[in-house]
Amino acid sequence: MLIPCPHCGMRPSEEFTAKSLAEAPRPALGGDDRPEDDAWQDYLHTRTNAAGQTNEYFHHTLGCRQWIVVHRSTLTHEVAGATLASAFWQQPKHEQEAGE
Ligand SMILES: [Zn+2]
Repeated sequence: MLIPCPHCGMRPSEEFTAKSLAEAPRPALGGDDRPEDDAWQDYLHTRTNAAGQTNEYFHHTLGCRQWIVVHRSTLTHEVAGATLASAFWQQPKHEQEAGE
């Protein structure tokens, strides 16, 4: 599988370390500088295990060492694109879901 790193271009997947799904941003802090318990529980433990298009964190361990979000199908392993993780959460929700 080839992964299109935004910095390095198309690179073999062996250069990357897969982390997890990029499903939800870290919960905002509430009172006492702590996230609400339910939001924290969901962030840590709730996973969708989707069949189809997903957004997944990968670290380019043997390359530029940037965290990226790879837009990939779990059914076909086809990679539709990748975004720097720092830019991913700045995108509108519909662009995140479409892997744009
Ligand atoms: Zn890279």
